[in-house]
Amino acid sequence: MLVKKQKLRIYKRDEHNVSRQDMDPDAIKVLYRLQNSGHIAYLVGGGVRDLLLGRRPKDYDISTDAHPNRIKRLFRNAFLIGRRFRLAHIKFGPKIIETSTFRREPEVDTRAKGEFFHKHDNTFGTPEEDAYRRDFTINALFYNIADYTVIDYVGGLRDLEKGAIRCIGNPDVRFKEDPIRMLRAVRFAARMDFNIEPRTWRSLRRNAPEALKAAPPRLLEEVYRFFGYRSGAASFELLAQSRLMAQLFPELAAFLKARRGRQAEFRAMLAALDAFGDDFASPKPELIFATLLHGMFEVRRAEHVERGEHPGHEVIRELLEPLMPRLRVPRRVADRLVHIIDAQRRFDEEPGERRFSRERFMAQETFRDALDFFSIRVAAGQASPALLKDWQKWVKKEPPPEHEERRPQRRRRGGRGKLRPR
Ligand code: ATP
Ligand code: MG
Repeated sequence: MLVKKQKLRIYKRDEHNVSRQDMDPDAIKVLYRLQNSGHIAYLVGGGVRDLLLGRRPKDYDISTDAHPNRIKRLFRNAFLIGRRFRLAHIKFGPKIIETSTFRREPEVDTRAKGEFFHKHDNTFGTPEEDAYRRDFTINALFYNIADYTVIDYVGGLRDLEKGAIRCIGNPDVRFKEDPIRMLRAVRFAARMDFNIEPRTWRSLRRNAPEALKAAPPRLLEEVYRFFGYRSGAASFELLAQSRLMAQLFPELAAFLKARRGRQAEFRAMLAALDAFGDDFASPKPELIFATLLHGMFEVRRAEHVERGEHPGHEVIRELLEPLMPRLRVPRRVADRLVHIIDAQRRFDEEPGERRFSRERFMAQETFRDALDFFSIRVAAGQASPALLKDWQKWVKKEPPPEHEERRPQRRRRGGRGKLRPR
């Protein structure tokens, strides 16, 4: 990769605000153990970025010149993972400190039909090479435990101050190498309320049609990550503007384009899901897909009803069909989603009209998630707050059983969805 090199900048301890006091003690332990064993040890990636922004990092990544086998010897609790064991997970209870050896961008073979093929996978490299292989400047900063400096090969600190997402190197090349980076750009911009700088943005829009060249499991993981940090609504604004939405969710993009009246409702649903969610973690996949698909589902169902049909699960299955292979949505998630969406018509019924057993309904394994989704619809102004209150009253009366018992469900017409145990 040909990259115009920036001037290396090193920020001394009094020139930045990364403090060991704000760091995870186990991450500090790993850094010191490496350093005391004669190695370079840097805190890297999202950890430094978030500390510089004054935010609490979700996890800590460390890079070092120690090779994986050496890391394994230095830490009893280190486990080598990944293809050819290139990465070490150092475990402290449930916590994992990801520790990797400096790598360089794998060499790419540009001769083969204009596509990028990795000639041989990542080999180890220098700290500088390790910085340049990273995606965005703000993600390539290093905190050096040896002298508490922040090392900046790529102008990351300046971009952090400006609030800019900027590709390292030529964006067209970097996005073609790994289309997932386009989704990552959107995610970081949405989460931190940053701008994607113009050159990176133009390239992103140009390369958006290639997004599906990434492996479906990675795409799915990134879709989930859009919804962490209460950033789903902001992410989807950017997905729409960047043309990535038309790649990832073409049916949804077409639906929102054809029915502009539904756009406000879609936004309100995303905002309600964000409000419902966690400060860090993404909501459950079932709730994410329910939020994305609910508007389409309602319209589809209404069409069936107009034709005099009584649609069951098949309407939701129809909507899921194109999505499942594209993003490799797991069966279990799809099955639960079907039940969650189907349950909504019961929540929507007035108490006097209910013709189902409340106890049986509440005993369904997906009941809690379905109720959560109902509360999201209420928060989005799409369902009745009074009905929600009524249901919550019942839930309080009956705390969830220790082992949620699953009773056999009566099959409804078209009801193919069988719940699998988690
Ligand atoms: P988060 O806070 O969401 O975990 P992060 O920046 O730590 O954000 P990770 O996915 O944990 O993101 O990756 C850690 C680091 O690895 C990134 O900061 C970046 O430097 C590098 N990285 C991750 N994915 C890529 C990629 N697809 N291309 C280049 N570099 C990447
Ligand atoms: Mg991370």
